[in-house]
Amino acid sequence: MMRRFQHYIDGAFEDGPAGFESLDPATGEAWAIMPEAREAEVDRAVRAAHRAFRAPDWAGLTASARAKLLHRLADLVERDASELAALETRDTGKIIRETRAQIAYVAEYYRYYAGLADKIEGAHLPIDKPDMEVWLRREPVGVVAAIVPWNSQLFLSAVKLGPALAAGCTVVLKASEEGPAPLLHFARLVHEAGFPAGVVNVLTGFGARCGAVLTSHPKVAHVAFTGGPDTARMVVRNSAENLARTSLELGGKSPFIVFADADLDSAANAQVSAIFAAAGQSCVAGSRLLVERSVKDAFLERLMAKARAVRIGAPDDPETEMGPLCTARQRDRIEEVIAASSAQGARLVTGGERVGEAGFYTTPAILDCSEAPEAPCVTTELFGPVLSVLAFDDEADALRLANGTDYGLAAGLFTTNLTRAHRMTRGLEAGVVWINTYRAVSPIAPFGGHGLSGHGREGGLAAALDYTTIKTVWLRTSDDPIPDPFVMR
Ligand code: NDP
Repeated sequence: MMRRFQHYIDGAFEDGPAGFESLDPATGEAWAIMPEAREAEVDRAVRAAHRAFRAPDWAGLTASARAKLLHRLADLVERDASELAALETRDTGKIIRETRAQIAYVAEYYRYYAGLADKIEGAHLPIDKPDMEVWLRREPVGVVAAIVPWNSQLFLSAVKLGPALAAGCTVVLKASEEGPAPLLHFARLVHEAGFPAGVVNVLTGFGARCGAVLTSHPKVAHVAFTGGPDTARMVVRNSAENLARTSLELGGKSPFIVFADADLDSAANAQVSAIFAAAGQSCVAGSRLLVERSVKDAFLERLMAKARAVRIGAPDDPETEMGPLCTARQRDRIEEVIAASSAQGARLVTGGERVGEAGFYTTPAILDCSEAPEAPCVTTELFGPVLSVLAFDDEADALRLANGTDYGLAAGLFTTNLTRAHRMTRGLEAGVVWINTYRAVSPIAPFGGHGLSGHGREGGLAAALDYTTIKTVWLRTSDDPIPDPFVMR
């Protein structure tokens, strides 16, 4: 029996004009029918969000009332965490260990932004005119188009919906066509939480017929996009037509830097997490290991032993450490890049092999790229469990290699030398620097990149302010007649 999912538009659940099959990456078999949103559905969703933005049952709510709705949503996410985790694991192949932990934490994002809703304050200005009062109102920007890729859809939408709703915006959320099941289920929680119709709309569909229509819609005020740089360019071109704002969370080719003075065992564990957790399908994957030459062999030995011991298996088995890749296309691309890099002189020291007949599995791969520093595995984001290794001689060399990419999302730094950690942090071109740790996130801490990794920040107060605009209000306090009308006041 195939399971069927529905869109959520203007407070109602509906089938799309067409449906498409979603594959279980662990078996390669279809397991569910997803509704496909096209131009008409996207247009209805945006118009519903636009109406809701102005309607008194949303626009008239106090910030504290919006906070209550967000708290209720967090409670429901917690209540349904097991089901949401199971759906995400089934539809994307992400291991159940990770989806369970991540979804429990997703609730914290909604709680954080619930807490922030009534702290988005305006200001009063000490204006330089004695007969004037001037104050600033922080107002929601309007309809937000939120677009997420298939990995961590619940998490990546929470970092958009939380601040946007706290600020008073309304949202049309597009789930990726790959693995949309958890978000389509999440829509039921939005409904149950009691958000007025049209405040949150959730749909899925293909990039050109759905995503492009959404991002170019004239009623969209802000596009919050997570995905790859090529799609981001299309998104920016489309939204430019209406001069909509954009925030872009894109990919990375993040360096993971290990100095000889580091705790190598701890660094090796963090490196395994950085590149093999989520089968490397993570924007912050630490996919370029830069290791000080004197400890390169010792560190690689540790890593190879750990990579070979990674338990690959069914994503719904709690013992599994690495599941399949999300799509066959993704696995094929990884194989192609490994082959092309090997042809250019990179040495595959372990992994990169298919596992089993069914599903999209591959083993954790490590390539020593000392002889091929420009190989595609070093320069391109692969979104898979593939680690490229380069050696460096000193801090300057490490920085040169670390910054030798157009991306700038994250960087990991392992050293016990405090002053060096500060020097390196200053020089690293990345939106997030993790020192002696990796892959740590929190709703309290802003996250984002620069360069090809995008712009804008998710998390923290800055994200909520990003969904607001300032209204400057002037009040004349004098009862005297307005003087000379031909002179600016
Ligand atoms: P894509 O850029 O291919 O897709 C992202 C989203 O954009 C999907 O929902 C996709 O829909 C949609 N889309 C596709 N075409 C258009 C269009 N013309 N207009 C509007 N939307 C469109 O990314 P992937 O799904 O391949 O995800 C991987 C990428 O996401 C990697 O680069 C990764 O680094 C990045 N990422 C960044 C994160 C961050 O926070 N910085 C976090 C996670 C991932 P559909 O799937 O239906 O085609």
